[in-house]
Amino acid sequence: MIDYAAILERAHKGEQELVDFLVDLLAIPSPSGKEGRVTERIAAEMRRLGFDEARIDGLGNVIGRIGNGPRLVAFDAHVDTVEAGDRTQWSFDPFQPRVSEGKVWGRGAADQKSGLASMVHAGRIIRELGLGRSFTLLFVGSVQEEDCEGMAWKYLVEEEKIRPELVVLTEPTSLAIYRGHRGRMEIEVEVRGRSCHASAPERGDNAAYKGARIALEIEKLNERLATDVFLGKGTVAVTEIASGSPSLCAVPDTTRLHLDRRLTAGETKTSAVAEVREAAGRAGIPEAEVIVPEYRVPSYTGKIVPYEKYFPTWVLEESSSWLKSAAAAYASLFGKEPKIDKWTFSTNGVGIMPVYGIPCLGFGPGHEPQAHAADEYCPVRHLPLAAAFYAALVAALSDKSAALSGKAAPMPAKDPASVGKG
Ligand SMILES: [Zn+2]
Repeated sequence: MIDYAAILERAHKGEQELVDFLVDLLAIPSPSGKEGRVTERIAAEMRRLGFDEARIDGLGNVIGRIGNGPRLVAFDAHVDTVEAGDRTQWSFDPFQPRVSEGKVWGRGAADQKSGLASMVHAGRIIRELGLGRSFTLLFVGSVQEEDCEGMAWKYLVEEEKIRPELVVLTEPTSLAIYRGHRGRMEIEVEVRGRSCHASAPERGDNAAYKGARIALEIEKLNERLATDVFLGKGTVAVTEIASGSPSLCAVPDTTRLHLDRRLTAGETKTSAVAEVREAAGRAGIPEAEVIVPEYRVPSYTGKIVPYEKYFPTWVLEESSSWLKSAAAAYASLFGKEPKIDKWTFSTNGVGIMPVYGIPCLGFGPGHEPQAHAADEYCPVRHLPLAAAFYAALVAALSDKSAALSGKAAPMPAKDPASVGKG
């Protein structure tokens, strides 16, 4: 029997220390590619709380471990944040966090240092109450998510050889359980023309006009894109147009369009690229080049993991046993049924579930609309509740595996029914 009341009580008892840790994290700026100081602080906290191990990997991710069991489950929290942006929109210094009106304020309070802090402090509850003994639990603070979600997990799976049965994403969900989101990708379209003196434009072939025709076809393409009941509509938008010419008195010879593409269920890189090619054809420019760009920015340790900017859609099926365990843990802990929903934004899940078939689910403190906003905050009350949920989930998964192994029918290592649709 799992003592859910003891988990909640332990979480509430640790609330002040959890808030203090979050305030410390918020006071250390950690934009993508500059996370070194914050990962050191996180590793120190893990050691203080009695984790069995806390280390920094080659890419700069911080990895805490509790337990040595045969089954591997991981929690993920990205440690980077976006920049503060226009300071005049903030009513306080975004890197001088404070606690007032029942909220913790600062850049990253919602996205997602609150989830990070709750996850680390859940480790203490798990350790002190002896939960999840059949597991090795990893608590990953991942880098560069804001720039290139999923990239850190490419490194963790392929270089660190970490292949959990389940990854729990701790991005903000307002304490609901999330089971997926739309994918996204970046697409570049390059068109060539022929330059000439702009005083006689008829001698040349203006690449700006060709790019403009393609842009208008992209606008029409957006109207045609599919909708999914759970994930919503796929979208495409031109986000930048740049033309090049020898001078401002010359007809441009190149134009480059940058597209933001959001992918709903069933849409893939292949289908999205083909649609853009078709749109270029409709514009009368079938020779336009369609490119998926690559991310190659070094981490703070100097490591480059080349990553195509394709972030596939993922959805954990409603029938997934992981989801059922999470919902049961929630109901037992909080005495009510959870809301099960999806993120609007994208998460590290794009580099885990659709790429490696490792199921993901999400639960986190803070509200998603606070992400990247000025005067960002997380409700204080969310913090111990999130920590309690993570501990309860581990207990529930462990309890289930114990019950099942008694009947010699262990839970499958992978849940094939739950692999992403994208
Ligand atoms: Zn985030």
